[in-house]
Amino acid sequence: TLPGIKKELQIDDVHFSYLPGKEILHGVSISVHKGEMVALVGPTGSGKTTVMNLLNRFYDVDSGKITIDGTDIREFSLQNLRKNVGIVLQDPQLFSGTIADNIRFGDPNANMDQVIDAAKQANIHDFIMSLPKGYETEVSDEQSVFSAGQKQLMSIARTILTNPQLLILDEATSNVDTVTEANIQAAMDRVIQGRTSFVIAHRLKTILNADKIVVLKDGNIIEQGNHEAL
Ligand code: ATP
Repeated sequence: TLPGIKKELQIDDVHFSYLPGKEILHGVSISVHKGEMVALVGPTGSGKTTVMNLLNRFYDVDSGKITIDGTDIREFSLQNLRKNVGIVLQDPQLFSGTIADNIRFGDPNANMDQVIDAAKQANIHDFIMSLPKGYETEVSDEQSVFSAGQKQLMSIARTILTNPQLLILDEATSNVDTVTEANIQAAMDRVIQGRTSFVIAHRLKTILNADKIVVLKDGNIIEQGNHEAL
């Protein structure tokens, strides 16, 4: 079973290609201590999302390894690994079902109080309560009422509820109004707090707050350190 991150997670000299003969990551090494936040930055196509995909084992490395406290993540069951890895994407998928079902997705046993608490922590409770059916609103019927920002907040609520050891976040960049943006920022700060996290960072504030900034370019790390060092 996955012991949880006691000390550190290491990405060690990882090479990866989606397609044979076209290597995307050329020997990437990043280490992060428990509770730290790593900001991944770099231009489009530099490999940021690819690093995230490997952490969650959507794909496996070609060579090198990713370890948690020294154990290769390939030694954990996928189910166990993913239960301990929370992902918040820029454009999260909602599922057909109610809002409550969607927030509960990661933990089907969660009771309504826990769902509401997670939604409050994610700054989305007030919006949900403003809907005529509240938490019982059917997502499939009302798809159009949710903005990208609101979907991201529901996804954060879902992640808070599962209480993952490792967090993978892709900061939203655009299409959100300033109030939603502030809500997202506050919710993200809250969910990152005390957890080991990798953030594809678009905001300066996130980058400045990071324990470590990793700059990727064309699948190589070109700089790594905190913002004082870089
Ligand atoms: P962005 O900031 O635009 O999200 P990124 O830094 O996250 O970019 P990646 O999505 O990791 O970059 O892409 C890195 C490279 O891998 C790109 O050249 C991309 O075309 C390629 N790539 C990404 N996903 C796949 C895939 N499923 N199959 C083949 N190539 C892929």
